[in-house]
Amino acid sequence: MEQSIRRFQEMLDASGLDGAWIAAPEELSSTNLRYLSGFTGSSAHLLVTRTASYLITDFRYWDQASSECPQCEIIRSKKSVSEIVAGLVIDHRLRYLGFETEKVPVAMWKNWSAEVPVVWKPLDKMVEKLRLIKYPAEIEAIRAAARIAGESLMEVLGSVVGRKELDVALDLELAMRRRGAESLGFSTIIGSGERGALPHAHPTDRVIQAGELVTVDFGAQVNGYKSDETLTFATGPVSEELKTIWNIVAKAQAAGIAAVKPGATSRDVDTAVRTIIGDAGYGERFGHGTGHGVGLDIHENPFASQNPQQEQVLEVGMTITVEPGIYIPGLGGARLEDTLVITENGAERLTIVPKSFQIIS
Ligand code: ZN
Ligand code: ZN
Repeated sequence: MEQSIRRFQEMLDASGLDGAWIAAPEELSSTNLRYLSGFTGSSAHLLVTRTASYLITDFRYWDQASSECPQCEIIRSKKSVSEIVAGLVIDHRLRYLGFETEKVPVAMWKNWSAEVPVVWKPLDKMVEKLRLIKYPAEIEAIRAAARIAGESLMEVLGSVVGRKELDVALDLELAMRRRGAESLGFSTIIGSGERGALPHAHPTDRVIQAGELVTVDFGAQVNGYKSDETLTFATGPVSEELKTIWNIVAKAQAAGIAAVKPGATSRDVDTAVRTIIGDAGYGERFGHGTGHGVGLDIHENPFASQNPQQEQVLEVGMTITVEPGIYIPGLGGARLEDTLVITENGAERLTIVPKSFQIIS
């Protein structure tokens, strides 16, 4: 995003930092670096001062970086990265340099702190704060990914009974790629029958039977942005208990979606969902948070849970999923998930598959 580096520089200024080092070498992929610079390669470092930004990468990416990162000066050098940054720090007289304390490995940090003559300061998730509110282009990429994913699911839903979970996953993934997804948003989750009790069931060679619930959690990626959606559907009439569970989840999800609006907090959304599931007697069978933001990462801020440290006031332009589930070992489970963007009036669903009780035979 073109504006993001400028806004980051304003934040540096306001927090008394002279600059920031964002490390994303091969072993440390960083969506923060991509967000600030636009760089999509697999290995780079970014040094941002209040007035300039430098992207340091290797020979493989020099030309790519020049076209992807018009706001950065691309350093084409074979010196070590810490040596290059040490030189820039001296040239710019940088004294206080922020870095991502929660990400940089200890071994790397030891080298850098010995070689680069600055006072190191934690960045305190400054880039994550910037990323909370999406630009319209980011929302459009998530919307495009969600449309591709939803249309693909609807295409493959008709032919699941008698087939392996793995084969259904493959059909869905191919359909997403054919519709223009650059990759999957994340590894597809399919849990059929009693495997539906596993919140993150990896598809297996289990053959999907008639008359059970099947949970599919899936997403596509467009321009780096991901979508996230879950549907639980029936492959024919199911037991009363499974139907009951599904209905409670649907009611909880509707209450959660209704709670998503500017000024509410992410914890309010969790409370709305959790109250319904708890009142129905299934509180112990809903052990995960209610939702999360979606963007360059599949799980990013804000997080909807009862954890006060994660509580975030919702603002226009944030994304959030609402994904209650009930999981009963030995029986099965149900989860419904939509990705929403917060608007002036409440929220808009970016995911497109209807969350009504569907019997697909
Ligand atoms: Zn999901
Ligand atoms: Zn999710």
